[in-house]
Amino acid sequence: MRWGLIGASRIASGYVIDAIRAQADCEIQSVLSTSTSRGASFAANHGIADSYTDLDALLTDASVDAVYISTTNEKHHPQAMAAIAAGKHVLCEKPLAMSLSEACEMVRTAEEKGVVFATNHHLRNAGSHLAIQDLIANDRIGKVLSARVFHAVNLPEHLRGWRINDAAAGGGVIPDITVHDADTIRFHLSEDPVDVVAKSGSSGLGDGVEDSVMSVWSMPSGAMVQTHESFTHGYAGTGIEFHGTKGSIFARNVMTQEPVGEIRLVDAQGEAAVAYEKHNLYHRALGLFVEAVTGSGQPSADGVDGVKSLAVALAVREAAKSGTATTVDYGGF
Ligand code: NDP
Repeated sequence: MRWGLIGASRIASGYVIDAIRAQADCEIQSVLSTSTSRGASFAANHGIADSYTDLDALLTDASVDAVYISTTNEKHHPQAMAAIAAGKHVLCEKPLAMSLSEACEMVRTAEEKGVVFATNHHLRNAGSHLAIQDLIANDRIGKVLSARVFHAVNLPEHLRGWRINDAAAGGGVIPDITVHDADTIRFHLSEDPVDVVAKSGSSGLGDGVEDSVMSVWSMPSGAMVQTHESFTHGYAGTGIEFHGTKGSIFARNVMTQEPVGEIRLVDAQGEAAVAYEKHNLYHRALGLFVEAVTGSGQPSADGVDGVKSLAVALAVREAAKSGTATTVDYGGF
């Protein structure tokens, strides 16, 4: 399977190129950049044959089967639509698009065209989250009453570009991190919020976009979800908790790109550490994407998952702006 990379990004160079190459029979043929020199040096540094500044040139290469889109967020929709039209399978970064209607169009068009379309929500692939999902699905904590997500981090210096100052490129902590938390809650609870309330603001980094947000979501089951995302918290650590009628799950340092963190289960028997498998998250995501393309499986997060996580993030942003409870619009999905 031959790949084209749309975007000479840090996530591609840091994680996804390695994950593509970890799959049997996968090769990276090309990369697209808006800059001839950045594209050429990215290609040279990563041993990629072709570098383009013209998307059509990358897409007309019939040897390319799939593309990985990791440009800034406002480019995902037009680039995905062009890739789908060219018959390529698409692994797209989150958030899928700037608006719900764009994301819905991407997913529906991919389905009509018969190509695989997936969202790169890496957290679903973590051994820690697979273990938590297993505990909840196997009724180890009973009926889930509430969940809390702690995802307030210190945005590394090298990422303090468009994320903190460019609303038009999709900056802000809500499109960056709240989407991941929405997908992670969906993954664990198999349901999506009906409505949300939220407060957001700037706490030192955000310039024209929010760098911090807290929200509370009402789930169809009656469970309540509380989330906190930020770019400015150096020492808060990350985590997720689920509290049920028969027990509670406390997971720390698990909202991350690395296979790390601890899980503890507390119930009537006492408190116990939960063991889990520590594999590379991106290797697993890419493996499942390749299986979906070859017809033997499903992506870990598909297009509908990406639509739903975006829908929640957009509702959180709207709720913070309006100061009122906001019903989540899932665009018919
Ligand atoms: P980057 O800022 O690294 O890349 C985005 C674009 O910025 C690139 O396409 C590139 O443009 C340009 N760029 C890259 N490096 C430089 C540089 N040194 N100087 C100037 N411009 C540069 O973004 P990320 O990799 O952090 O994020 C890209 C996408 O991936 C986003 O949609 C984000 O939400 C998502 N993401 C997902 C993660 C996950 O785990 N699922 C983790 C991190 C990000 P060009 O292509 O034109 O050269």
